[in-house]
Amino acid sequence: MASSSSKQTLTILGSTGSIGVNTLRVVAANRENYEVFALTAKSQVDLLFEQCMEFQVAYAVMLDKAAALQLKDKLLAAGSTTQVLEGLEGLNFVAGHEENDCVMAAIVGGAGLLPTLQAAQAGKKVLLANKEALVMAGKLFMQLAKQSGAPVIPIDSEHNAIFQCLPVDEFGRFSNQSQAGVEKIVLTASGGPFLETESTELAQVTPEQACKHPNWAMGPKISVDSATMLNKALELIEASLLFDLPVSSIDVLIHPQSVIHSMVHYKDGSVLAQLGNPDMRTPIAYGLSWPNRITAGVETLNLCDIGQLSFQHADEDRFPCLKLGRLAASAQGSAPIVLNAANEVAVGAFLDRMISFTRIPVIIEECLNALENKAVSSIEEILEEDNKARALAQSLTKV
Ligand code: NAD
Ligand code: MG
Repeated sequence: MASSSSKQTLTILGSTGSIGVNTLRVVAANRENYEVFALTAKSQVDLLFEQCMEFQVAYAVMLDKAAALQLKDKLLAAGSTTQVLEGLEGLNFVAGHEENDCVMAAIVGGAGLLPTLQAAQAGKKVLLANKEALVMAGKLFMQLAKQSGAPVIPIDSEHNAIFQCLPVDEFGRFSNQSQAGVEKIVLTASGGPFLETESTELAQVTPEQACKHPNWAMGPKISVDSATMLNKALELIEASLLFDLPVSSIDVLIHPQSVIHSMVHYKDGSVLAQLGNPDMRTPIAYGLSWPNRITAGVETLNLCDIGQLSFQHADEDRFPCLKLGRLAASAQGSAPIVLNAANEVAVGAFLDRMISFTRIPVIIEECLNALENKAVSSIEEILEEDNKARALAQSLTKV
């Protein structure tokens, strides 16, 4: 560990977002164990300023240059010693900094790829919320983390649940399905805000309706992903990479209450599940404290109040993104990169009211069909395929 004090030092990539803010809430409740080293954001000056003042961090990074200048002025005027950096270079610098033990990867989308990889390569404990980074970099990401000895702890609630139910090694890795007797894992899905909506009405739904998740309060991109269930497609790929499992060993089950966060079926008939209120502070706290536990500030689960837990099959005809996810996950190569890039562009266009909700899976499918599935082994190749898919998806949003 890099820090000399007994406190774990932490950098939060994307500290002004939903995961970032919740991470700081958990840290605030456990200040004796954690010290925040650096905070980063795209352009939210006021919130990042408040966070820097509250946690007295060494570095703050803004992707946006003008926002970085504003933040610098505000911090200077307030007498803060926090140093302000900018751009991707600044993000990479704090992600791999030697005084930093642990990186919460909570930037949304492919923008988080390079700093998250930087943290993994530098051997930091990576708390992985940014699933898109893993989907894009695939096996390369896991290899780099393995080489540097970086533990990768999933923060996505489903994967954090599975992580809690599997026998992992000292690096948090699980790699031997048959030896552990794992038959399959089951990712639960709430079904999102449109589980009961008539299929014929989906073309008319608005970004506001899509972002109104029944159980979780999240950033806009992942909220739309939950509504299309492309989120579960990304999670299928994420689970396969994190736990070294074939996609055929991963099921998806709709569970509208989001109380069982996922489960593992063992060959003796045992099923281990992790339950809890739908509150991201639980997986965040477990990621921070693993293999120990800390308080997360989350209300105790009251099953009597909830009354009933229900389940239903995930209908891939109703949610075509699920089918596309399974196809891309099985194809491997550049297909997951294309799926992710096309989705990011399509979701952005939907949030900007340029395309309808039902156009999202159409654009993803057209990109997957049009672009050749290639083997990718370097970061340059990954970025090339990502760029190609984004350009094609962009053109399809205008048709
Ligand atoms: P969010 O939109 O609320 O926050 C995103 C953060 O990333 C912000 O701090 C923003 O400033 C920063 N950011 C955005 N674009 C950037 C860019 N181009 N460069 C640098 N920084 C940038 O998102 P969120 O809901 O907190 O999700 C973050 C990640 O965690 C996503 O990958 C998401 O899939 C994953 N995740 C979120 C939840 C959740 O409950 N919110 C649950 C599971 C997984
Ligand atoms: Mg999830």
